Order: sequence, then C-alpha cells, then structure tokens
Amino acid sequence: MMMLTKKMIEIRGLLQTVGQSESLTLPSIVVIGSQSSGKSSVLEAIVGHEFLPKGHNMVTRRPIELTLVHTPDAHAEYAEFPALGLGKVTDFAHVQKTLTDLNLAVPASDCVSDDPIQLRIHSPNVPDLSLIDLPGYIQVVGRDQPSELKEKIAALCDKYIRAPNVILAISAADVDLANSTALRASRKVDPRGERTIGVITKMDLVDAERGASLLNDRKYALRLGYVGVVCRVPTSGSGSKLFSRGSGNISTAIAKNENAYFSSHPEFSEGPFAVGTGSLKKKLMHVLEQTMAASLKTTSVAIQRELAEATYEFKVQYNERSLSAESYLAESLDAFKHSFRGFSDQFGRQQVRELLKHELDQQVLNLLAQRYWNRPLEDLSPPLPELDPLSSLAKADPEGENQIWQIKLDSSSAALTKLGVGRLATNVVANALQAHIDHLVSTSRFAAHPFARQAITEASTSILRDLSYDISDELEICIKPYKYRIEVEDNEWARGRDNVTNALKEELKVVEAAAKKLEEHVGGRKKARDVMSFIDRVRGGQVVLEGDGIGGAGGYSAALLAKGREAAFLRDRSDVLKMRLLAVKSKQCANRKNKYHCPEVFLDAVADKLTTTADLFLDAELLSKFYYAFPRELDNRLGRGLTHEEVERLAREDPKISRHLDVVRRKNLLEHVLKEMESLRQLEAREKRSSRRD
Ligand code: GDP
Repeated sequence: MMMLTKKMIEIRGLLQTVGQSESLTLPSIVVIGSQSSGKSSVLEAIVGHEFLPKGHNMVTRRPIELTLVHTPDAHAEYAEFPALGLGKVTDFAHVQKTLTDLNLAVPASDCVSDDPIQLRIHSPNVPDLSLIDLPGYIQVVGRDQPSELKEKIAALCDKYIRAPNVILAISAADVDLANSTALRASRKVDPRGERTIGVITKMDLVDAERGASLLNDRKYALRLGYVGVVCRVPTSGSGSKLFSRGSGNISTAIAKNENAYFSSHPEFSEGPFAVGTGSLKKKLMHVLEQTMAASLKTTSVAIQRELAEATYEFKVQYNERSLSAESYLAESLDAFKHSFRGFSDQFGRQQVRELLKHELDQQVLNLLAQRYWNRPLEDLSPPLPELDPLSSLAKADPEGENQIWQIKLDSSSAALTKLGVGRLATNVVANALQAHIDHLVSTSRFAAHPFARQAITEASTSILRDLSYDISDELEICIKPYKYRIEVEDNEWARGRDNVTNALKEELKVVEAAAKKLEEHVGGRKKARDVMSFIDRVRGGQVVLEGDGIGGAGGYSAALLAKGREAAFLRDRSDVLKMRLLAVKSKQCANRKNKYHCPEVFLDAVADKLTTTADLFLDAELLSKFYYAFPRELDNRLGRGLTHEEVERLAREDPKISRHLDVVRRKNLLEHVLKEMESLRQLEAREKRSSRRD
C-alpha cells in the first residue's frame, strides 16, 4: 500500500501547480496546536531533524506545506524548497535558517500570510506523508506583537482545518485538555471526532496514571484516537542536548527515550490508545492513505470538470492552437526573420546609392552655398561670359579671374573628397539599416515584448558598430585616389548636368515653398515686401537700426523684422538658384571644358563618382555582412541563448499570450493529472488483488 500514498502525494503536488481551487486538491494532515504545546517537537521527531524556526517570540507566520518523501537510499537525506530553487539542502540547520528568513519576510503589519512555504524532505527515515504546519495558537499577544495576531492565526487555522483534511490536534499533557485550543478548534469543525487525531505531548511531565486517563478522553472522543508522545530530545548528563542541531538523525534517540518512558509505566501497556512517535507515524500514514483514497473520486470529478472548462476555453478562445513559450518565441522569431529577408531583398545597392547620392547632394549644395553663392547677387560667381557680359573683373583681368575660379573649384572638390566620405557614407547606411530594423520590430509580434525589442536592437547595433569601424576606414582608402585627381568623362558630365538641373529645381521649389509660408505668416505678400525692402535699406546702410532693432524699428516689431530677414534670405537664395539654373542649362555648361564656370555640374559629377565607389563597397561589405550576421545574432540572443525561464518571461510580456499559455498549461497539467489518477486506479486494483491473494 506504500506506493499508493506516494503516488497520491505526487498527484497532490501536481494539483498544487495547477492553481488555487479548493476542490482541486487531495487532503493533507493539518497540524495545529498552541504555542509551546510541543508541535514543532512532534514534527521534528517524525522527520528526525530539527528544522523548524525556534526562539523566543518566534511565530511561524506562514503555513509550511511539508511533503515527506520516503527514499530507500540510506544516504539520501535532504530538503528542497521547490519555489526557491536552492537545490538539495543536506544541512538541516540551513533549512531552519531558510524557514526563519521566509517567516521574517512577512511584514509584521500583515501578522501572518496564507501563502504556504513548500518544503519537501527526502529521507529513508520518513514515511510518505503530506503535512501542513500552521502557526501555533497564541493565548496572550506579546508586547511587541500586533494585537490582531491572535485572531489572524485562528482564522488561518480555520481555513485549513476544513474537511476533508485530517486534523492533527496537539495538546500538552501538563495543560488541562479542556483548555486545549487545538481540540476546541477541531471540535468546532469536526464535532463527531471523525477526522481528528489527538496528540498529547509531554507525557513525561504528568504522572502515568493521569497520562493514561488523558488518552482515554471521553469528553471529546476521537474515532482516530489519541496518541501520547514524549518528543523531547534527550539531554546528556551535563544538561546539554545529546543531539545538537544539525547533527545526525534524532529519531532513534527520541524513540529510545520515549520507549524507555512508556515501557517503565505499566499504565500504558494496555488500553485503546496508542503511545510513541512510532505509533503516531504509522497512524498518520494509514489515516492519510485512507483519507486521500476516499477523496480520489470527488477530486477526479473536480479535475474532469476543470479540464472540460479548460478544453472549452482552449477551443473557443484559441481555436485549439497549442502553444508553449518556446514555440511562440520560435514562431515569432521565424516571422521576424522572414520579414527581415523581405527587407533585405529590396534594400540593395540601388537603395544604398540613392541614400548616398542624396546625402552627397546635400553636401554639394552646402559647399556651393558657402563657396559660391554667399555673396551679393551683383558679383555672384562664377559668371558665364554671355550671361554676364558686363563682368568688370573678367574684362579687366581675364587671366587672374580664371585662376581664381580654378582654385575655387579645386578646393571645393577637395573639400568634398576630404569630407570623410568613408565615415559619412558608412554611417548613413548603418543608420538606415538600424531604422529599418526598428521599423520591422515595431510592426512585428515583438512590438509587445520589451525584452525582445531590446535584444533585437542590441543585435543590430552591435553588428553595425563592429562592421562600421573597419568599413569606414577601408572605404576611405577606396576613395583616396579621388582626393588627388578627378577626371570627368563626357557622359559623366552630361549626367551631372541633368542631375544638378533637377537638384537645383528641387531646391528652388523648397525655397519658394518656404518663402510662401513665411509670406502668409507675416500677413501677405505686400507686407512681406515692405518688410523686406526695409531690411534691404538697413543692409544698404540707408537706415541705421538702434540697438539692432531689438525693440523693433521702422514701425515693425522685432519679430516681424526677424521674419523679414528670413524672407529676404529666401528671396536672395531663390534668385541665386534661378540664376544658377539658367547658367547650368546654358550652352557653356554643356561642355565640360567650362567646368570652372559650372561648379555645380562638376561637383555633382564628383559626388556621383564617390557614390559609385561607396555603394559598391558598402553593398559588398556592409549589407552582405550584416544580412549574413544579423539572423544568426538573433538566434543567439533570442534562441539558443535563453533559458526556459527567460523564454517564459519573454512570452508572458504579452498579456494575450500569457493567458493563452495559462490555458494550454492548465489543460496539459489537468490531462497529465488525470492520466496519473488513472494509473493510480490501476495500481490500487493491483494491490487489492494481490492482498486478496495473500
Ligand atoms: P511549539 O511551540 O508548540 O512548537 O513547541 P516546541 O516543540 O518548541 O516545544 C516547547 C517546549 O516544550 C520546548 O522547550 C520543548 O523542548 C519542550 N517539549 C516538547 N516536547 C516535550 C516532551 O515530550 N517532554 C518534555 N518534557 N518537554 C517537551
């Protein structure tokens, strides 16, 4: 029959993981007693080790769900706290310390907590038992204890002593049984004494005759009877305990002491009662097995009902889609990698080229503005002869003038090639890749998973950072030749001219749109013109502003003047752009020989050459390498590299998934428990058959 209890205790443990539902459990033995009634001593005598918190004023604040597992291996004696993941604890002093810490962690203001501590003890000296140790009843609340402690403990005990649990009511022999809080509490819920075992401790403290009469109590007769025990750990002659805490098993010593006591008193030799810890153990095993077995049917019905509910929910809410944290993560990762592949297929050399060209176009426009277009319109340069026939400088010293334009263009082109194109281009592409990854994440399932988001972002940034470092240097080397000499072919020139025409037109559009917006802002075209002409007069020195016009001037507010300056800038800029557009489109600029007069076209051709070199290089080095490394890095960070707990935590970041996982898990667990129940039934039948044969 031993196997049965073991199996039932296992099932009880499984049911505990399913979740809190009162009907979804198998009964246990609940241990109650007043403080100092000897409750701890009884439990420790059963276990054979001192492991419970002791000390003055030490109140157990949480129930301890104590599962004793009989292990035939004589050397395997250890405790486990399944919820703490401490592994096997072989030092029982450590168990005691852990329990003390767990108790002390309950805030004093809460008094007690009904969240049980799970403790499993494996030993060859224990029977298979499931016991729940509850805080001891207190009579008087200590000075430093909260006043409601007494009631809270009583309420907690009331919750646990309900049927079908077995009550182990501990009372000390040296206290009048009529005053036993444990027996009184148990009598309330079990008036006919059907599921209470009475334990009378400290039998050695009363004379044997009285002791025997206690065990024969008729006032509260118990069907399961009373057991008298002496659970004191024997002391040596010097008064110290023979078996100090943490040393070997104490059950033999206790039993020896106990036996000596009971056998020396003939009062205990006969009677309808039991004495000794050994008898108590046997009784507990027997009663627990009977009680558990009697509950199997109702529990199994309850499990089936719960399973039916879980199955229904699984079907209706989740379309019977099975899910585990691992499968969820794997699917999500696959989907993400798939979308990444989609992106990588359409983001190639051409896209890199567009990005880079756009960036370099901006750089060219800036250079032109700085070096060519930054002067008043009258001597805006470089002039084209037939556009600007009156150019006085050109007439006076055509040679010198040409030289100036030559130097200007060479230095501008050098400024472009020495811009740090390697770093700039690499950064532009790396940033674009990062932005695309961020976008992919935000439109993926991982959007609801901060942990995954971070892992993905870190994966891409770390790869891009590592690659960029070398790539920008290498790219810089690739473009090095252009720093010294740039040859532009006819076709390149023609393409540059087209490009720049478009770029100037685009820029013109932007400037005109901005100017229009500004006009509207200041209150119409006329108003804008008035302010601008005032600004022009200020610039031309016809008007002097007091204090820089901080308080306004000419009837205009300071804010309006600022807008006017902006408008004047945009007007000048658009005049420049129109003029340059005209120049670029002119016949002169169709010929690359006139490059010094057409810096826009030449610089565009340079930018184009740089882009071609850079896009080829970045496509081969940055894109290909990133496309190769990124999915692998994802596998590292979100696949193999994660523990089960991390995967579970990640999946549960999404409340919808968490609920889905709960339902699946609950359903699987219930199915598993039912299967276990079925094998238990078979085991029971087998045992019955073999006992009939015996
Ligand atoms: P608890 O507060 O109910 O857990 O009580 P303990 O198990 O800590 O015991 C209270 C005190 O009674 C301790 O000093 C024990 O040593 C002592 N004690 C426990 N059982 C016996 C016993 O059978 N005989 C004697 N003489 N003392 C006992």
